[in-house]
Amino acid sequence: MSARPSTRPEDWTGGVEVIRYQACGACGRVQYFRRNFCAACGATELAEKSASGEGTVYATSLVARAATPETRAHLPTTSCWSIPPKAFA
Ligand SMILES: [Zn+2]
Repeated sequence: MSARPSTRPEDWTGGVEVIRYQACGACGRVQYFRRNFCAACGATELAEKSASGEGTVYATSLVARAATPETRAHLPTTSCWSIPPKAFA
């Protein structure tokens, strides 16, 4: 009998309320969505960093409809869009 796979998304914050992102060691670009390579140049030298928490929220969106039954437990959720000039440093 095999274990049932988890439907929870991977917690890559380490349990801390912080926005985590990756910074490319080759070109310096930052990316929020975790990848095994830089989306800009393809390099694999990525450093995990924490955003400072500073920035300006320009828009929010409340999501109340689940895309799949597995994601229903995480709703409702609010997403924020911001331009964080100091957050990713
Ligand atoms: Zn890069």
